[in-house]
Amino acid sequence: MNYFYDFWDDLISLLFPRLCFACGNHLLRNENLICTGCYVSIPRTNYHLQAENPVAQLFWGRCLIEKAAAFSFYARGSRIRNLIHKLKYSGNKEIGYELGRIYGVSLNSSGFTDDIDIIIPVPLHPVRKRIRGFNQSEYISAGISDVTGLPINTDSLVRIVLSATQTNRSRYERWTNVEGIFRVDDSVRIRGKHILLVDDVITTGSTIESCANELLKVEGVKVSVIAIGCAVV
Ligand SMILES: [Zn+2]
Repeated sequence: MNYFYDFWDDLISLLFPRLCFACGNHLLRNENLICTGCYVSIPRTNYHLQAENPVAQLFWGRCLIEKAAAFSFYARGSRIRNLIHKLKYSGNKEIGYELGRIYGVSLNSSGFTDDIDIIIPVPLHPVRKRIRGFNQSEYISAGISDVTGLPINTDSLVRIVLSATQTNRSRYERWTNVEGIFRVDDSVRIRGKHILLVDDVITTGSTIESCANELLKVEGVKVSVIAIGCAVV
């Protein structure tokens, strides 16, 4: 009987090839979304093992972040960039979950998440979420949550400003542009908690800064940050 199923599997994969979302090569039967070659060769920053890393340094003098890290380097042509593009712009939500799960294993085993109480995915503005259909950071968070057992809170922090792209603004303009973008709606549920903010990519850090500044207004809150990719130079 196994032969029959194997034959059927092979026929299906010939007609509907399952391809790796990072490199486009055919996936083997035991591979899911990302091939073993990519899984092994995606460069890890290992910033979660190093307190004074470039992502953490990005927030020095801007807002009080306990710990910050990113899974991989978000460079042009990199596998992680391919994956995040397919997550955000082709609606492959399961990529977010899978990347969250992979990073969650490292965060959990290194003790990075030991003192975290809750996960808050960086919220999208409701209009953007309606257009995209989902928030990619919620799927990354779901993967981390499944590995670490940490609860996810998607209600307490809301995005109230739909801002345009920040790519072409100076750092000063970006800094002045981060105030009042987010609002805490339900401070009781986060009071005294150490929050892990989860984003897909950290570039200038202004989105995280804006979230953290709002969260830190709540009594006893501490904020740490992780992202899947970082484009910090
Ligand atoms: Zn691959």
